[in-house]
Amino acid sequence: MDTKARQPKLGLREKYRLLTRDLGWDPTYQTRETLYPYAEYEGIKIHDWDKWEDPFRLTMDAYWKYQSEKDRKFYAILDAHAQNNGHLNITDARYLSAIKLFLQAISPGEYTSHQGFSRAGRELPGVGTQVACQMQALDELRHAQTQIHALSNYNRFYNGFHAFVQQRDRMWYNSVPRSFFDDAMTGGPFEFVVAIAFAFEYVLTNLLFVPFMSGAAYNGDMSTVTFGFSAQSDEARHMTLGLESIKFLLEQDPANVPIVQGWLDKWFWRGLRLLSLVGTMMDYMLPKRVMSWAEAWNIYGEENGSALFKDLARYGIRKPKGWEDASKGRDHISHQFMLGLYQWSFGTAFHGWIPTDEEFAWLSEKYPDTFDRYYRPRWNELRKLAAAGTPFKNYGLPMLCQTCQLPCLFTEPDDPTTLCHREVEYKGERYHFCSSHCQEIFDHEPEKYVQAWLPMNQLTQGTSGGGGLENWMKYVNLVDGQDNGDFEGSQDQRNFAQWKHNSVSNQA
Ligand code: FE
Ligand code: ZN
Repeated sequence: MDTKARQPKLGLREKYRLLTRDLGWDPTYQTRETLYPYAEYEGIKIHDWDKWEDPFRLTMDAYWKYQSEKDRKFYAILDAHAQNNGHLNITDARYLSAIKLFLQAISPGEYTSHQGFSRAGRELPGVGTQVACQMQALDELRHAQTQIHALSNYNRFYNGFHAFVQQRDRMWYNSVPRSFFDDAMTGGPFEFVVAIAFAFEYVLTNLLFVPFMSGAAYNGDMSTVTFGFSAQSDEARHMTLGLESIKFLLEQDPANVPIVQGWLDKWFWRGLRLLSLVGTMMDYMLPKRVMSWAEAWNIYGEENGSALFKDLARYGIRKPKGWEDASKGRDHISHQFMLGLYQWSFGTAFHGWIPTDEEFAWLSEKYPDTFDRYYRPRWNELRKLAAAGTPFKNYGLPMLCQTCQLPCLFTEPDDPTTLCHREVEYKGERYHFCSSHCQEIFDHEPEKYVQAWLPMNQLTQGTSGGGGLENWMKYVNLVDGQDNGDFEGSQDQRNFAQWKHNSVSNQA
């Protein structure tokens, strides 16, 4: 009888080499150029793809093992949350505005990110990058799915969660994240990787996921904490990979440096504009606050960001152009954005409100230089109007920025009493911008941004439901009187109070 030869146990490095080895064949009946038609037009020069190696050397079997383990835990906790009325453990139903915004604006971005990485995996010639892109595409798909599953439980009890799929494409404020991802996906594969790796993973993950998830924990939202934890270990891997990819580009050819710098400038600013949604959530929407946007910016922006750019300085990379203006806006953007959301709350699929006295005190403590001086007086005025039974609603259409698609509601970096507005003429048409940096992004690729689908402009063209507020609400799937308007007096507020009461009392 033959004795079976025992296979030697393979190490991680060897396994990874075997996984990727046969993927890197040389084509014989097609040229490399026809196989990878998008590899060169951005001007990026790569001399040796083998120099790019996945620092994790994750093999498929290890990948599936980790992910399925995480999914098992995730669904077990989610099940417990659903069965024990976990939705009644949150601090206040007002908190759900933040979560509605997350589901409408961020989760579809995870899905888009999955599509983008699938494409980048096909278009980038290196074997290591192909494997890493494939795994990240799967991660992003899983993030979208787990988020939707986790939040679907709230949809059974509260308004505003029911139409996030349609609202991704049609709701005016969702144009901000959608255009961010569409812009990234319609760049070349290298720009896509830099955009997502840097702006989304590095800048946004820290400033979005960390405060969001600790906000969820502070406010008793176990289901969000659970998907956050499940995604966070992927995000840590993505950040490392993203940084490796950027360094790889910088090391391959000095001609890549100015191209990458341009992308960092652009995507830093696009990411920052997207973050104004998050800053608003942190400063205004969490009943129990974790930290202010200003504090988060100091830690994750100033400290971590400065360390990153110190590290990249040896390649000739400097801080993104918009950095200084971002710091100047630190104490302003969340207040300016929330004041806008309050005025337009008839047109949002979440509730708006005027902060309470206690919250005023918190805001002026966190923003000693700006809140009492610029924003408290405006809120006081809105309070007076609301108390008189004539709450201020702004039915005029805001001017949108052609690049970031936010309403032009931010002020000049050096003058918080003057609205910032830039304007450009291009081929006989006039375009408007919220900032010099958004204008610069446009100037660099005007043919791309003239195609932007701006929701307010569409409204006046009658393409969004046929004209009129009522038709528009149907078009965006907004149930008037339920999904929108003030939290005070809303169905969500009433139901939550009633159910909470029922859960501790014998009286109905
Ligand atoms: Fe993700
Ligand atoms: Zn803008």
